[in-house]
Amino acid sequence: MKEFDLIARYFSRPAPDGFLGVGDDCALLPLTPGLQLAVSTDLLVEGVHFLPDTDPRALGHKALAVNLSDLAAMGARPLACVLSLSLPRVNADWLQAFSCGFYALADRTGCPLVGGDTTRSLTGIVINVTVLGEVDPARALRRASAQIGDDIWVTGTLGAAHIALSLLQHRLPADKALLEATRPALDTPDPPLQFAQTLAGVAHAALDISDGLVQDLGHILRASKCGAELHYDALPLARGLSDLAPGVQRDAVLRGGDVYQLCFTAPVGLRARILELARGAGTHVSRIGRIQAETGLRIKDADGADIVVPQGGFDHFA
Ligand code: ADP
Ligand code: MG
Repeated sequence: MKEFDLIARYFSRPAPDGFLGVGDDCALLPLTPGLQLAVSTDLLVEGVHFLPDTDPRALGHKALAVNLSDLAAMGARPLACVLSLSLPRVNADWLQAFSCGFYALADRTGCPLVGGDTTRSLTGIVINVTVLGEVDPARALRRASAQIGDDIWVTGTLGAAHIALSLLQHRLPADKALLEATRPALDTPDPPLQFAQTLAGVAHAALDISDGLVQDLGHILRASKCGAELHYDALPLARGLSDLAPGVQRDAVLRGGDVYQLCFTAPVGLRARILELARGAGTHVSRIGRIQAETGLRIKDADGADIVVPQGGFDHFA
């Protein structure tokens, strides 16, 4: 199959009215006056970000989901996306499944695929997605906006993707039921886009958890020049994790990456409002701690004793 046949067959679904999509030198997008463009890009490399035998439909979903997660973290609304693919060979079944997974999420989230690039790879598969979104700059959820006294919240649950990856890489003893319970979080993350847009102008600071709660919350704390206390017992443990050894569970919940849920801070007076917004969007939220003036992160168990965790989370060059 030639390059242009491949694009025509798998990546040329029509763009919505008012957009110029795949087929010209650039895509053209209608913009809402008064809003700013939110742009984010993520690279997925075979062997680094996904295992070589990953289900291609799930991979298509995930390639877009990890980017939509960044839009969610800013409180932005998706506008469109572009997809660049570098492939060692043309595998029709792989392309069919990958593009179906990608388009299914693009359709569901109103984020049309409007362009990209396709090349041959001399190594493994490389996937790059760039998302474009819109947000009111006065309402965007920045990392530097946490205020002393804010509640700290997270959406969804923590730890499942980390446990699924540990099982797949044989770093934990085989456990079929646990893998079944945790694998969807790793393969098909579902960032809370709708809820995130309602948080814009309501929450103070936010980011998406990609490299682990402790490391990612650390970005908010440094950017906002403050510290925090977390209550371990308030952290939303993913299904199936409660029977794990305490050390394994803590590592998954506090340091596990690939979460693609939000961590955000908001004034104490907005608790009821946030619960109402979450209910309206069908998103699960948990209040997990408090922003404090003293820098650094303190994690407390149910008795108020300190839980010590090694610093850091995932780092490509560590
Ligand atoms: P150029 O030579 O300008 O890079 P291409 O010939 O690579 O353009 O691409 C032709 C059209 O197909 C362009 O509109 C481009 O955006 C689109 N395209 C190429 N690869 C992809 C892809 N993987 N997904 C979506 N659109 C693609
Ligand atoms: Mg090209």
